[in-house]
Amino acid sequence: MGIRVIRTGNDPVLRQAARPVATVDPYIWMLLDDMAETMYHARGIGLAATQIGILRRVIVVDVGDGLVELVNPQWRLLEGETLAAEGCLSLPGKRGFVKRAQRVIIAGVDRYGQELVITAQDLYARCLQHEMDHLNGVLFVDKEVPAPSQESVSEHV
Ligand code: ZN
Repeated sequence: MGIRVIRTGNDPVLRQAARPVATVDPYIWMLLDDMAETMYHARGIGLAATQIGILRRVIVVDVGDGLVELVNPQWRLLEGETLAAEGCLSLPGKRGFVKRAQRVIIAGVDRYGQELVITAQDLYARCLQHEMDHLNGVLFVDKEVPAPSQESVSEHV
């Protein structure tokens, strides 16, 4: 199918929880392909299936080290705390500061159904937390805190 429409603003689908994928089948492969294409086209660094209106627990991330596809992600560890600015492809033009864990371990399966365990920190960890929130119907503005006096980095997630 290719590039999908990214749901934005008050679209109610963004507030719904996604359900787990029972079987990683050709439908999920197509979904993963389209999500990556849509993310790159929009110059994002992460995308959750929820953002294209598909309520399945699937995310794609690329913070500059290559594409990562994760199905049915679950936290193994959330540790430390950092504060930085975020944006969201579903909230164009908005950015805000959000406290996130500094280091995470997340586990899921890849497109072949093989277990995938990812250890991430800083921007990569932030991006994973942002996308996981999407799978639970949570947007970064729900967690936004006042900007600190010293400006930090801004990234589109
Ligand atoms: Zn987002």
